[in-house]
Amino acid sequence: MSIDFEIPEEAKAMRERVRQFVQDECIPAEAELAKSQDYKGVLTALRAKARAQGLWLPFIPVDHGGMGLGPLANALVQMELGQSHLGALAMNSQGPDDATMLTLLAHGSDFQKEKYLKPLLNGDKRVCYSMTEKAAGADATGMQTRAVRDGKGNWVLNGEKWFSSAASAADIAVVMAMTSPDAPRHRRYSTFIVELPNPGYVIKRDIATMASEGPLSKLMGGGHSEIEIKNLVIPDENLLGGEGNGFNMGQHRLAYGRLRHGMHNIAMAQRALDLATAHVTQRSTFGKLLSERQGVQWMLADCASELYMARLMLLHIAYKAEKGLDLRQENSIAKVFLAHMVHKVVDTAIQLHGALGYSHDTPLARWYTHIRSQRLVDGPDEVHRWTVGRNVIKAYQQHGTTASAAGGDLL
Ligand SMILES: Cc1cc2nc3c(=O)[nH]c(=O)nc-3n(C[C@H](O)[C@H](O)[C@H](O)COP(=O)(O)OP(=O)(O)OC[C@H]3O[C@@H](n4cnc5c(N)ncnc54)[C@H](O)[C@@H]3O)c2cc1C
Repeated sequence: MSIDFEIPEEAKAMRERVRQFVQDECIPAEAELAKSQDYKGVLTALRAKARAQGLWLPFIPVDHGGMGLGPLANALVQMELGQSHLGALAMNSQGPDDATMLTLLAHGSDFQKEKYLKPLLNGDKRVCYSMTEKAAGADATGMQTRAVRDGKGNWVLNGEKWFSSAASAADIAVVMAMTSPDAPRHRRYSTFIVELPNPGYVIKRDIATMASEGPLSKLMGGGHSEIEIKNLVIPDENLLGGEGNGFNMGQHRLAYGRLRHGMHNIAMAQRALDLATAHVTQRSTFGKLLSERQGVQWMLADCASELYMARLMLLHIAYKAEKGLDLRQENSIAKVFLAHMVHKVVDTAIQLHGALGYSHDTPLARWYTHIRSQRLVDGPDEVHRWTVGRNVIKAYQQHGTTASAAGGDLL
């Protein structure tokens, strides 16, 4: 299977509309929010404008109130939305909610869709995802939280969770727990829908991280919580996707999350390169504009090359998704590449801004500390590279060449 470089006209037009919306509405709203600190007011106004323009839930089917975009058009849209930290929120496509909405859509019962998915789609509620534990992260099959039936139509959960993003801002938690300890490793876990607040799901603290935090971080869903799960009672009707299916559903959910992170990384890197270029074209040192120095031009060139590779990777993956092709190898390669790419580009942009880049007078310093997480979330670098490397060996053993594991089907 090769790659079709033609982007449908409708997708291009949609990208243009979203680009305009981000530039005209979301980026100016950032400044307004910084001044007023009125998150609810600013977001409500922004969402009303987005909805009035039909810009809402890009990846959700039309009959569920979304725009029904396929993977390619959605990728184009997300690559614009990520330019502003209010972009995805404005169109109700922010993480971690987005991937969980897709999980509920794919695996939820009619009851669960009506009660839990609908308010998420409408933007009335938020959802967090609790899989990682102190006991287990990269290897999620080490989770210890247990769920047992109480004989009265309920499950009772006990254990702990760690780094549940947006838990403090969430109205619903989707929690994974072990239901069948004797089953094969990947069939031991099930997923439960939990209404919050709940006396059995105790947010012990929002973990302080290296990312810079403001007074609005938690409200906007930026926090990551440590949770104690103590005699948490969940009715059987809140078991999501059937017993033993938690791990597989979780992996599918993470696959979308990885791609969305990548799309937003591209958008952020693009804005960082724009900021850097704007700066060097007006800042002089030693009698010359920075932009006239070849050394500076090389730095910009390296960023442009990184961004170009990143875009091609992502569009190829989106294309494969559009065609229903297996994209796991490419997704892992791109997940690692994009996490490093955004880091390098933002770092270069800070360097070119000098002390200004280190300050909070531009968004660069905030982005820099925030994106370090990209090499850890949704599977750390080493785990993806491990998978990719094993596939390289497998391809060689099967075909006498590693090409199929290294983008070879592009040709
Ligand atoms: C900002 C942020 C947001 C997050 N949000 C959520 C969330 O909403 N919900 C949720 O459930 N979880 C969330 N997580 C948790 C995240 O999924 C885990 O941090 C991640 O899976 C890694 O697990 P760990 O931190 O326990 O690292 P560990 O599993 O302890 O691994 C530590 C390190 O060991 C190395 N390593 C691990 N395995 C291998 C291997 N096989 N080969 C070589 N090296 C290896 C890697 O360098 C890795 O970084 C979040 C994490 C962060 C940082």
